[in-house]
Amino acid sequence: MSILDNNKGLKAEVDKVAEVAGLLWAKGWAERNGGNITVNVTEYVNDAMRALPAICGARPIGKTLPHLKGCWFYCKGTGKRMRDLARRPMENGSIIRITDDCAHYEIVADAPVAPTSELPSHLAVHDYLLAKGSQYRASLHTHPIELVALTHSRKWIEKDVATRMLWSMIPETKAFCPRGLGMVPYMMPSSVELADATIRTLDEDYDVVMWEKHGVFAVDTDIMDAFDQVDVLNKAAQIYIAARGMGFEPEGMSDAQLKEMSEAFGLPK
Ligand SMILES: [Zn+2]
Repeated sequence: MSILDNNKGLKAEVDKVAEVAGLLWAKGWAERNGGNITVNVTEYVNDAMRALPAICGARPIGKTLPHLKGCWFYCKGTGKRMRDLARRPMENGSIIRITDDCAHYEIVADAPVAPTSELPSHLAVHDYLLAKGSQYRASLHTHPIELVALTHSRKWIEKDVATRMLWSMIPETKAFCPRGLGMVPYMMPSSVELADATIRTLDEDYDVVMWEKHGVFAVDTDIMDAFDQVDVLNKAAQIYIAARGMGFEPEGMSDAQLKEMSEAFGLPK
């Protein structure tokens, strides 16, 4: 028995999270318990689910997030591995609902799996997205090898320098990650400063934000789309590295060719 049994829509969303978790592991981006996923699943919650009792007492989020009143989230569990979540999403993650004071959550799930320790920062991002009327419902943090490697050089941390290079490797990168890669300088993992800087950078109009020497944070309509944005960026980084490995600096598409892409596909940048 699972709370997903009579809810096809919710089950499909959780299955997508499990599929992405497996891809993160297969790509080598999710060592040990690395990475986090949270998805706003409120639209899939039906009356039967709303009537279910919580399986733990209300716990503080650590922040008051006024736009999350009545919202429900699937969250990866704290200390859990992506490769385990891929096979057993309700043993390695749980569904939570935000209480009416917008400062606590309760677990309504198959097992009382405590959500990620990054919950306050992830929920702050969801609060920000709802406040601005965004349709984005998923957030992903992972450690894509080549993108993280780029941030070990000052040159690539400058605003939009990596974006320009990555977009110019193949046309699809700009088409499928049309806002590019925002940059956040190194900050302590889990810190309030890092969460605040991430929201500020998303607000500058990026869907994917790079945390220097750490990983990416991506948002999109669902978790598969968030994954795809990171995947196309990392692919572009791999093409750059392949060219450098062949002993030359890749030419890259020209400014005119990048502009032509934006015009043809109505891209935002
Ligand atoms: Zn991390």
